[in-house]
Amino acid sequence: MEQYAAEAAILKVAGSECLDYVCDEGVQIYGGMGYSAESPVERAYRDSRINRIFEGTNEINRMLIVDMLLKRAMKGQLDLMGPAMKVASELMGIPDMPEPDDSLLGDEKRMVANFKKAVLMVAGGAAQKLGLELAKHQETLMHTADMVIDTYLAESTLLRTLKLAELNGADSVKEQVAMCQLFIHDAADGSTSTRRRP
Ligand SMILES: Cc1cc2nc3c(=O)[nH]c(=O)nc-3n(C[C@H](O)[C@H](O)[C@H](O)COP(=O)(O)OP(=O)(O)OC[C@H]3O[C@@H](n4cnc5c(N)ncnc54)[C@H](O)[C@@H]3O)c2cc1C
Repeated sequence: MEQYAAEAAILKVAGSECLDYVCDEGVQIYGGMGYSAESPVERAYRDSRINRIFEGTNEINRMLIVDMLLKRAMKGQLDLMGPAMKVASELMGIPDMPEPDDSLLGDEKRMVANFKKAVLMVAGGAAQKLGLELAKHQETLMHTADMVIDTYLAESTLLRTLKLAELNGADSVKEQVAMCQLFIHDAADGSTSTRRRP
């Protein structure tokens, strides 16, 4: 289980903040009544809030996400440095102009690949510059964790949507494709539900 501790923290933070976002929007949709105990969303709003506190507060989990990934890399269980160095040399070289990808969610596939490069660049740069001191730079850890969370969710959403399209045909998953596009484009803007926490 320890092997998946970073994934568990990612899902805990993302799930609890998504739930809070949904409940908050629910209260807003009900308007003034949403604030009253007579409405069903009032209870959901109150009940959802604890999830950002117990099982490790989301602030602490965010800091642990980056820490756990770096520790896994140091133990040789995760190759972070190889891809990080590849991204660094790519940045120093002549930028390549990839051919447009006309396949389903082709733009989004490219965006997710670029999200990963951005995370590697930021986390790799921070680890290189700060070394063990990185643990004390909480804002850097938390913002990097937000990038990791969005990248993880973006890739999961993309892969699940492509799998559904393969199973059922692209025409029957138009809503899922639209949701996937919305999530990934929001993530590129830094405005997914995980960041719009109330
Ligand atoms: C309903 C409920 C059920 C619970 N059930 C259990 C249970 O079954 N078992 C159990 O072991 N515990 C349980 N707890 C305890 C729960 O896990 C703790 O409340 C939780 O770990 C937060 O600790 P704390 O309340 O002491 O907050 P604190 O640690 O005092 O934190 C207060 C705030 O400061 C933030 N903060 C703290 N340190 C930092 C930092 N270094 N950087 C940035 N922000 C920071 C926190 O994120 C938080 O927002 C329960 C709590 C509740 C409310």
